[in-house]
Amino acid sequence: MTSLYPSKPSVGAEELAMVQEVFDSSWLGLGSFVGRFESEIEKYIGGGIAVAVNTGTSALHLALESIGVGKGDEVIVPSLTFCASVQAITALGAKPVFCEVSCDDLCIDVEDAASRISPRTKAIVPVHYCGIVSRMDELLALKKIYGVRIVEDAAHAFGSTYKDRPVGSFGDICCFSFDPIKNITCGEGGAIIVHDENHAELIRRKRVLGIDKDGWMRHTGKGRKEYDVTAQGFRYHMSNINAAIGLVQIKKADEFRQKKVELVSQYNRRLSGLNGLALLKWNLSENFPFAYVVRARGGHRDNLKKHLSKRGIHAGLNYIPNHMQSFFKGDSALPVTEQLFKEIITLPLYCELEAEDVGYVINSIEEYFNGCDSEKTILAAKEAVCDEQT
Ligand SMILES: *Cc1c(COP(=O)(O)O)cnc(C)c1O
Repeated sequence: MTSLYPSKPSVGAEELAMVQEVFDSSWLGLGSFVGRFESEIEKYIGGGIAVAVNTGTSALHLALESIGVGKGDEVIVPSLTFCASVQAITALGAKPVFCEVSCDDLCIDVEDAASRISPRTKAIVPVHYCGIVSRMDELLALKKIYGVRIVEDAAHAFGSTYKDRPVGSFGDICCFSFDPIKNITCGEGGAIIVHDENHAELIRRKRVLGIDKDGWMRHTGKGRKEYDVTAQGFRYHMSNINAAIGLVQIKKADEFRQKKVELVSQYNRRLSGLNGLALLKWNLSENFPFAYVVRARGGHRDNLKKHLSKRGIHAGLNYIPNHMQSFFKGDSALPVTEQLFKEIITLPLYCELEAEDVGYVINSIEEYFNGCDSEKTILAAKEAVCDEQT
């Protein structure tokens, strides 16, 4: 029986061989492999200074902490994101101010975000949903007008471009994740991209407990042997073991992207004809697709999910809106997000998936909608929000 899941890492013997090199070197923690991985990230995106950390969540936490976000501050973030984006804010005692996303690409609704800016707003955290990049020009204009920082949650978007510029190479502060299912993986990992050497130096110190010289610097004799703690810091650095995996993965990034672009095109070609579905607005010459999400209109999502599961296709849900989570519970109503939450479904997308597998998923979806009263489907869909955009 077929068993398909929303995502799966793509790692193998080459990654293992590089990890073996780290074992042979006897330096497992923060060291030269991390430095090499940072250089490769900088080369790949072609702009900015990369500081590698242990997760995407710590990247966001550290990035916000490094610009002084703290108690009494507000940070605007879409509710429709992984809870990590929000935990990074609440960990600092700051208040997440949830905003809407656009129906067509599920990225931050910039007008809605702008309307929530207050004198306490320190930053906006746009999430590049599924590898589709948020409207960065408009967000960076808000930085100019209001002085708010733009901290990109680019966990989904390593390798995507925006108006021909790679994500991270321009902008304010950009955070990547290299967790097991992201565009490329380190096993676990993340990176912060900044454009100012002093800021990079501060983040490098903060990722190792605020110590002015990390162990590798002391080991290799750069500077004195004793150390000084000069700032609030965290145990957030990347290890050589994780960097080794990333060093191999980043060489495969273009190949991964090509494969996922082909699979998304295949989905889009055949699913665009289905009345019951609304597809995201992909720009496949710019996006590195992270996940494949569609909207099942007219109240069909849960039944479609059940139908697929009987066919061995285990669909995902990205995400439960954070203003509905018990710990964050926002005071604001977000009608668009709440409607989208009832519609979204994540279909299988990963590099080892074959065209036949995607064909099987598509056939199973068609089978579901053919079994429905199509008139009813269309009518129900027309009642939903976001109608004008489909
Ligand atoms: C994965 C993810 C993160 C966090 O990254 P980790 O490396 O898993 O800590 C943050 N935001 C979004 C949108 C993510 O998908």
